[in-house]
Amino acid sequence: MFEKVLIANRGEIALRIHRACKEMGIQTVAVHSTADADAMHVRLADEAICIGPPAPKDSYLNIPAILTAATLTRADAIHPGVGFLSENARFAQMVEDHGIAFIGPTPHHIRVMGDKVAAKDEAKRLGIPVVPGSDGAVETEEEALKLAKEIGFPLIIKAAAGGGGRGMKVASKMEEVAQAWAICRTEAKAAFGDDTVYMERYLSRPRHIEVQVLGDGKGSCINLGERDCSIQRRHQKVIEEAPSPALNATQRAQIGETVNKAISEMGYRGAGTIEFLYEDGEFFFIEMNTRLQVEHPISEMVCGIDLVREQIKVAAGIPLAFSQEDITFNGHSIECRVTAEHPETFMPTPGKITDYHAPGGLGVRVDSQLYSGYSVPPYYDSLVSKLVVHGANRNECLMRLKRALDEYVIGGIQTTIPLHQKIIAQKPFIDGDYDIHWLEKWMGLK
Ligand code: ADP
Repeated sequence: MFEKVLIANRGEIALRIHRACKEMGIQTVAVHSTADADAMHVRLADEAICIGPPAPKDSYLNIPAILTAATLTRADAIHPGVGFLSENARFAQMVEDHGIAFIGPTPHHIRVMGDKVAAKDEAKRLGIPVVPGSDGAVETEEEALKLAKEIGFPLIIKAAAGGGGRGMKVASKMEEVAQAWAICRTEAKAAFGDDTVYMERYLSRPRHIEVQVLGDGKGSCINLGERDCSIQRRHQKVIEEAPSPALNATQRAQIGETVNKAISEMGYRGAGTIEFLYEDGEFFFIEMNTRLQVEHPISEMVCGIDLVREQIKVAAGIPLAFSQEDITFNGHSIECRVTAEHPETFMPTPGKITDYHAPGGLGVRVDSQLYSGYSVPPYYDSLVSKLVVHGANRNECLMRLKRALDEYVIGGIQTTIPLHQKIIAQKPFIDGDYDIHWLEKWMGLK
């Protein structure tokens, strides 16, 4: 097993990784920007190294600085967390070339799945149904117009290198196609340095259902069930739950089998997520994330498996200790992503936390970097806490979530807690009867 792991990330996920390491008797190295010198995971880590100024490109995306920190501290592995360098194949390769283990999939799998056009091709080859659309990139305006006729409306134009809900444009009629295609390309170039775009049917009322997978690269590949992430704003997840209220046992078993077959054929190593849109009983692949997901705790709560611990073990070359038959699902779990944003305008609200009281009690888990006196810096993602609850069934889980949100005190800045309180009181949410458009429609944004 590794003796020392460098955590190449910040915020709650850095803390989450530190916790798993400590429980495994592994030393931790925190790397941080000057803006994060007072972060909780920096305080708790065995060693800490400042790798640059606040801007992510100078610190958390600064590969030479991170590799230097790993070499200086003699870390034997690097965990990239989520976001930043977690899906950067070049970084994974460079880490391995330095004789350091990368806690994640092989650079090859990161590369293939990181390009959404290549990923859809790979999914098709592996027998996974995909959203109907262009077979590959759409390179000219003429091609876009021709394909639009075949695909029908509405349709969505997406960046091959897209992520984080960015790089997508919906066109609802022929007259909009040329402009949407051009804007999507320009935006993709600016945001991701790659103007490759593709097109697919824009589903009108799907749910976002994703399957958590885990492989050891030695022939064992299993899934830890699904998460329903349909409560979204701007294509980004706000609340997630496991299991999905929309699936029955047969549908669950079917998609699980399809996924297991595919990742076994890939020989996948590490944790990953296969994302689908689900409409009228049918699953359509949209992408695969070759990393830990923000919402991984809800799968941990229903399976009783620590995903970060498993990631670390697999990266150290240890085969999975369980097979699919050993995985059992217990109860229900929901996660609320609490962000440092105004609950109605979504304006970022960085600043000092004057009071902090996290909810607790049976079945309540808070993954958060916050503490009283901490200042939320303005430079990064606004996620400040994940409130995760577990209950014997969905109803118990909902009641627990309500009381945990009511207990939660984050003073000094505004957060989205009031929004979560309102969402979970709505009948469609209580009934589990919602699709990816429900939240924005309810908020009057659509
Ligand atoms: P990202 O990598 O940016 O998260 P995804 O491809 O995973 O992008 O899509 C994010 C979200 O965008 C989905 O959960 C869904 O809400 C919406 N979306 C993407 N593709 C489609 C589609 N073909 N039809 C309807 N909604 C879509």
